[in-house]
Amino acid sequence: MKVMKFGGTSVGKPERMHQVSQLITRDDEATIVVLSALSGTTNALVGISDCLAKADKQGATNQIETLEKHYRTFILDLLKSAELRAKADSIIDEHFEFLKITQRISLSDALNRDILAQGELMSTKLFSLYLEQENIEHALIPALEFMRLDANDEPDLAVIKEKITTVLANYPSKKLFITQGYICRNVKGEVDNLKRGGSDYTASLIAAATKASVCEIWTDIDGMHNNDPRVVDKTIAIEQLSFDEAAELAYFGAKILHPTCIWPAQQENIPVKLLNTMQPSALGTVIKKEAGTVGVKAVAAKDGITSVKIKSSRMLLAYGFLRKIFEVFEKYKTPIDMITTSEVAVSVTIDSELHLAEIIEELSKIASVEIEREQTIVSIVGNEIAKTDAVLKKLFDAVNEVPVTMVSYGGSPHNITLLLPSAYKTKTLQLINKGLFNL
Ligand code: ADP
Ligand code: ASP
Ligand code: MG
Repeated sequence: MKVMKFGGTSVGKPERMHQVSQLITRDDEATIVVLSALSGTTNALVGISDCLAKADKQGATNQIETLEKHYRTFILDLLKSAELRAKADSIIDEHFEFLKITQRISLSDALNRDILAQGELMSTKLFSLYLEQENIEHALIPALEFMRLDANDEPDLAVIKEKITTVLANYPSKKLFITQGYICRNVKGEVDNLKRGGSDYTASLIAAATKASVCEIWTDIDGMHNNDPRVVDKTIAIEQLSFDEAAELAYFGAKILHPTCIWPAQQENIPVKLLNTMQPSALGTVIKKEAGTVGVKAVAAKDGITSVKIKSSRMLLAYGFLRKIFEVFEKYKTPIDMITTSEVAVSVTIDSELHLAEIIEELSKIASVEIEREQTIVSIVGNEIAKTDAVLKKLFDAVNEVPVTMVSYGGSPHNITLLLPSAYKTKTLQLINKGLFNL
């Protein structure tokens, strides 16, 4: 079994769906194809639900109408026969009826998640009709039947494994399966999702659950690049990354991968390949246990970071002080990304301010607390960076003009992390591209 995931751009045009149909039938291996929503759809659905949250009914209606028109035109290009077009029209009717009805119901969290699920439900159903047109044997298997979250809203791999095995057993003679990325059910049985960009996570979870031979992530670029191509002009694709390196880059902002999508594949030692739908012969990036080469591989940046500087008011860093600090973050389920210490102070960074007020209140009982917002983490990732010649020197020479506010080095031999004001992100990524990658 292999898993192939196609992102929004890869299914965003009828001719792309045609390309996808060719890529998924290139060999005989049984394949589970995970599809995202057509590009732009999830953003539009978020827009619709934002309008509903603000009671802006007209805004929601306008966005629903624009989106519906897009789908009506899409199917005219995608499908030739009147019969298949009629089937597609009734799929669109069903989902847009639902979206229109939501305007008459008060918006709850559960309804919001139902709205967000419509994109993947439609893309897979329409793609299935396209495969029917091309006489490509397949089965559409609903992700909502097997993708599950646990009580902590984390994917429940054991349950996913059990349920997908049961679902697949219903189709002993089929070799090609199509399913939705991103969407799942939570412990209450409600429709939920794996957060934005979550189709990568679906693919990796399905790969782990079925012990697939490979998890292919097909997107609009030829692999993981050494730097963010949206920010920096000259970037190059990386041939090979270890699971740890890729996980670090994804977590610290490389948008090509969902932040936590590597662990399921890593757990089962399944290689993950990043490939380009628009350029299928390009080498792409392979992510596996071994890192391949030694040295710096890539840099990624994550915005929206808040730093919390905690200065001990009474004791110096007596033992127990760190524990008390961590307990506060643990109590409010707020993960810490970076940490640095001095003799009297500890600084940490968080990417969620959901419980910041409570955290400050509790920390203030044992320390003085200062907050800095609009920070960006810049993470330099590679294999055995610490052992590689003068990486630190090159890095600090490169970012000489940047007012770096925190540095983390030595936590792992594969990573150096800087914190800086977000206003300096673009400049820093450009400087690092020159200084560390000679690009
Ligand atoms: P998909 O819709 O296929 O999931 P995404 O938009 O989520 O695609 O991810 C692909 C995009 O990630 C690329 O178009 C690129 O702009 C962006 N990206 C950011 N950082 C990197 C990086 N280091 N390497 C490759 N792509 C990156
Ligand atoms: N459609 C979802 C999103 O845009 C999931 C994904 O594309 O991975 O976030
Ligand atoms: Mg994505």
